[in-house]
Amino acid sequence: MSHPLSIEPCDAPTSTEQRQALLHNPVFGKVFTDHMVTAQHSADKGWHQARLKARHDFQFSPGTTVLHYGLEIFEGLKAYRQANGSVALFRPEANAKRFANSARRLAMPPLPEAMFVESVKALAQLDKDWIPQQDFASLYLRPFMIATDATLGLKPAEECLFSVIACPVGAYFKGGAAAVSLWVSDHFTRAAPGGTGDAKCGGNYAAAMVAQLEASRQGCDQVVFLDAVERLWVEELGGMNVFFVFDDGSIQTPPLTGTILPGITRDSILQLAMDKGLTVREERYSIDQWQQDAQSGRLVEAFACGTAAVVTPIGSVRGNRHEFTIGNGQGGEVTAMLKGALLDIQYGRADDPHGWMLAL
Ligand code: PMP
Repeated sequence: MSHPLSIEPCDAPTSTEQRQALLHNPVFGKVFTDHMVTAQHSADKGWHQARLKARHDFQFSPGTTVLHYGLEIFEGLKAYRQANGSVALFRPEANAKRFANSARRLAMPPLPEAMFVESVKALAQLDKDWIPQQDFASLYLRPFMIATDATLGLKPAEECLFSVIACPVGAYFKGGAAAVSLWVSDHFTRAAPGGTGDAKCGGNYAAAMVAQLEASRQGCDQVVFLDAVERLWVEELGGMNVFFVFDDGSIQTPPLTGTILPGITRDSILQLAMDKGLTVREERYSIDQWQQDAQSGRLVEAFACGTAAVVTPIGSVRGNRHEFTIGNGQGGEVTAMLKGALLDIQYGRADDPHGWMLAL
């Protein structure tokens, strides 16, 4: 590889006792492992200085571009302890590809995909003891890139920093996965045609925060966004894609028209559903039709999916013009079947016919 990753394990790693204490019920995203990856980009040298070393803080000029214009992209993927004791990553090549696409959309220098995969693999390998022992635990890897030019000049990034940090994640499903309630955001939208909806950039999440706050104030778990043009079509949740399950056994999800994130879990669920012989459709679905079908019984289940929450049933939907419950409000068998099939592959309990797992 043209950018060799220099691996420099830290001198004073967290002690086993201390690590065990931190791994007991870690709050998502608050506990970090001992190491991190960093690499630099400059106009003259391209990508260089790729290092895996002790986790450390950054120091920047207050004029750094990312602080002013939000030139930032990120990814999220997990390393799982396999049934045979080894550790493997789920579809890191897909994250590498999406990361490069996000970079191009923000006019940032794309990171070579092989360098992305090598970085997440090496960090997961070095910090694999940080994967909690309990069932359904994993190591969440957070690759990200920021523009580090020290200038207020509004121009495309030249100097960039790529980094990967990692967080242990405990069992998400203690006591079973509770169904979530959604609030329909009919005022705020997440992404417009031509915008950055299909890039994974921090700005998308900044713009969605107020809608999530509104959902919480309305007593709902998550916000569901509608399209920005007609305010009719269901797009996705704040951090998850959405699927609908019908009484004829078919499943449907909104198409990738550029305004939603092309979720890797979404893509995997589509594939697994086809493997199981289900009819799958990537077609738009209106919020009014969703309500009508839930009430008539044509729609029997709905679920959200993404790396963090895997597959989560949607129990009820509420908004200024809508209020309905889906099925019995608890999820259903198609949702449970697809979730089980995905988890079985991720934890190495089933065959991996699509070659999704990358062993360390
Ligand atoms: N939509 C949004 C807005 C997200 O942030 C995420 C999480 N990355 C997803 C969908 C699901 O994507 P993935 O399955 O790749 O985690």
